[in-house]
Amino acid sequence: MTKLIDYSKKEEISQQKKRELFEKLCDVLPSKNVSDEEIDKIAYSKDYCLITLRWILEGVTPATPDFIVWPENTEQVSGVVKLANIEEIPVIPFGEGSGVVGGAIPTRGGIIIDIKKMDKILEINDKNLEVRVQPGINLMNLERMLNKEGYTMGHSPQSIYCSALGGNISTRAAGQFSTKYGKIDDMVISLECVLPTGEIIRSKNVPKSSTGPSIERLFIGAEGTLGIITEATMKIWPYPEKKTLMSYAFENLEDGLEVIRKIMRKMIFPAVIRLYDEIETSRHFYQTPEAKKRCMLILVMEGDEDLVDLEEKVSKKICEDYRGIACREEPVNHWFETRFNVKEASDFAPLDIIFDTIEVSVNWDKSLNLCNSMISAMKAVNGVLFASVHASHFYPQGVCFYFTFGGAAPGGVKPEEFYMSVWNAAMKSCIDAGGSISHHHGIGIIRSQWLKEELGKEGFDALKRIKGSIDPKNIMNPGKMGM
Ligand SMILES: Cc1cc2nc3c(=O)[nH]c(=O)nc-3n(C[C@H](O)[C@H](O)[C@H](O)COP(=O)(O)OP(=O)(O)OC[C@H]3O[C@@H](n4cnc5c(N)ncnc54)[C@H](O)[C@@H]3O)c2cc1C
Repeated sequence: MTKLIDYSKKEEISQQKKRELFEKLCDVLPSKNVSDEEIDKIAYSKDYCLITLRWILEGVTPATPDFIVWPENTEQVSGVVKLANIEEIPVIPFGEGSGVVGGAIPTRGGIIIDIKKMDKILEINDKNLEVRVQPGINLMNLERMLNKEGYTMGHSPQSIYCSALGGNISTRAAGQFSTKYGKIDDMVISLECVLPTGEIIRSKNVPKSSTGPSIERLFIGAEGTLGIITEATMKIWPYPEKKTLMSYAFENLEDGLEVIRKIMRKMIFPAVIRLYDEIETSRHFYQTPEAKKRCMLILVMEGDEDLVDLEEKVSKKICEDYRGIACREEPVNHWFETRFNVKEASDFAPLDIIFDTIEVSVNWDKSLNLCNSMISAMKAVNGVLFASVHASHFYPQGVCFYFTFGGAAPGGVKPEEFYMSVWNAAMKSCIDAGGSISHHHGIGIIRSQWLKEELGKEGFDALKRIKGSIDPKNIMNPGKMGM
């Protein structure tokens, strides 16, 4: 039904073979942790990718797994993968299915390995500031347990209530406090992973080593195509002593971006920095009169009291230098209250209106051009009603732009075709303007066809060779990342 899935490589398993496999899986795991029930297959045929929402509305399930298993420990994960390797059936690791680009969709059938029973905090080490944890833990549960003990991991994606640590590491996720605490990739100290052969590898828990390429880093952002993360040691921090909330409205996006760039050059890393264009400012901050027809910047500094006070003082001066109008704490409180609200996509989809987001990254010197080019490219697609942007993750070198577009397929065009034409216009203009096609959502099936252009032919071929040598039978999440 969809061009996003290549059925030519899917191998059907006979009923007889399925029965045998079911029994073999029950030799590895308790039988209550193995399912081939239709209801489970439907539940695991999708993630949060907007396309899958359309499938549900249309009553179709174009990609279902053959089995779902819920292992309770690394040995069981290894046992299932060993079996899959011998039988040459796909294995798809599954966190909480909140991925938005189709990474966890079983496009070639096979075994979904849902990791959510592996959800324990194994050790908190105060001296080393680290937590050793299983990857199936829900992120909000992890953060709450850390907060209770006086720590934070500083990773708070909008999906904190509905995503797992392993999924976040596998997509290179970024949380709302990323400018201070880093993205998930910055927080990983060491990993335990199950390879496609079922072998288990563990990296050393040390702050840094100079012992050749870091094998474990291959698994960060691999979207389950190279192996399964079964344990992680992550950085943690003492819970912040003080938080300062600030907001300023700027005449245009360019001034707001310059302010942020100047703040970053001072080596000030506010936990939250968010800058909204005029459209998004009017959508989110309509109750702030000073922000009318302007671009809202919100800042949250947190940590040691003296340091926070100093960061506030320096940042305030930079905002004033660019004629920012102070809007005080209220807009930031409003953001804190509403930051997990996400219902537009599911509200609009039944009305045949498509509403989705696309995040990319770019260096400062190309940032404004990329932003304008991508907005124009999306708006140029017939049926697009609006395209807007905010920026929410920052580096001394550049920025992540997060675009939102909305529209409806024109007469005679299928919603999926319309949807993909907006995505493709956005991806092409991003590459042309010198950006990276994804900052933190990953590749999945939606961006698959663009990965080669992103990495260059030689880069993509090298990645394919790495995949081919680690997973010669291509059992690990096949059909993803263009593999
Ligand atoms: C409302 C909403 C808000 C969101 N906000 C953010 C945000 O602020 N920041 C952000 O970065 N993302 C965000 N996302 C996207 C999504 O939450 C992230 O991509 C998240 O990292 C996915 O985690 P998950 O546990 O749900 O993984 P899944 O969707 O289950 O899987 C994602 C990918 O990781 C693989 N995988 C899962 N677990 C493992 C494992 N243990 N080992 C190896 N591979 C594995 C899967 O095969 C798949 O390819 C949002 C999504 C939604 C729906």
